[in-house]
Amino acid sequence: QADERESMYLVSEYAKGYFEDVLWNTEPGKAVGLTYFKERGFTDETIKSFGLGYSPDEWETFTKEALAQGYQLEFLEKTGLTIVKENAASPTGRKQFDRFKGRVMFPIQSMSGRVLGFGGRILTNDKKAAKYLNSPESAIYHKSKVLYGIYHAKQTIAKEDNCYLVEGYTDVIQFHQRGIENVVASSGTALTPEQIRLIHRLTNNITVLFDGDAAGLRASVRGIDLILEQGMNVKVCAFPEGEDPDSFAKANSLDAIKQYLEEHAKDFIRFKASMLMEEAKDDPIRKADTIRDIVNSISKIPDRIQREVYVQECSRIMDISEEVLFNTLAQIGRKEI
Ligand code: ATP
Ligand code: MN
Ligand code: MN
Ligand code: MN
Repeated sequence: QADERESMYLVSEYAKGYFEDVLWNTEPGKAVGLTYFKERGFTDETIKSFGLGYSPDEWETFTKEALAQGYQLEFLEKTGLTIVKENAASPTGRKQFDRFKGRVMFPIQSMSGRVLGFGGRILTNDKKAAKYLNSPESAIYHKSKVLYGIYHAKQTIAKEDNCYLVEGYTDVIQFHQRGIENVVASSGTALTPEQIRLIHRLTNNITVLFDGDAAGLRASVRGIDLILEQGMNVKVCAFPEGEDPDSFAKANSLDAIKQYLEEHAKDFIRFKASMLMEEAKDDPIRKADTIRDIVNSISKIPDRIQREVYVQECSRIMDISEEVLFNTLAQIGRKEI
């Protein structure tokens, strides 16, 4: 329903402005929210450009204000900004809560800049609470179809003909602040074909930047075959143990970041082949699995000449004959048809 979606967009846009106003113009906003962003190294300009905000640490302050401004509870609930629960003790029979109570706010915008939803980060070290909370799926927010930062990055992605893909909100923001603007985040979800298509509209080249922890790396490597399937060129780059693009960019100059990316960005297939072989080194059974795994990745590449080049390359990296690789490739091809 177009009207319902329009109302949801309007209340989301209002909420973005409200959270910004709280951040800049209230005592708790300044003392807690703004201080937090400053400690992360974000400048006023950056905070304003990304529309960052703060949600008061009170049960329903935001919801009450939105209602007072004439926004309807129905759309506050449908966008997930307000959680409504039945409550017999309440005169209205229900009770309402601000979903993002006490969190710093990252508005998530569409390619054209419309506010679709929010990510909210907790400020305490409470291990029981989720570090990031996101808007729920709704008529306007489909998390598999959005990329954080795409609105701010789209021009530079096209101009540079490359897109950096990172894991988190703060990676995008810190890179921007350092002067690398062709960067978007999948925001912790597994990469989807729709997300890749958003990028593919702007460029044929993706460089995936991993947080420096082995678990994340293994998990993300799987999603990357989806990029190959769309015929795009993929490079990957891992950061040092314990670092992510945000912390690395915060601690280094633009030149040092560019140099790191140049030296460490590797062709994806080459990277995957080396990584898997390293892990499987002395284990023949794992080595066989590895070969199937890498050939499976190669089989996703639509271009036949590219596939052949990769077979040659992987034959060298994995020390196995091209013939075996070609045969495996043919087998996979038959299975998929
Ligand atoms: P920070 O630097 O603020 O601690 P980060 O962005 O480095 O956070 P990661 O732990 O690397 O966080 O996770 C990457 C992304 O995954 C986050 O930016 C966020 O979008 C998402 N994410 C992380 N933790 C959660 C969580 N508990 N619930 C939902 N999403 C999460
Ligand atoms: Mn293309
Ligand atoms: Mn991270
Ligand atoms: Mn981080």
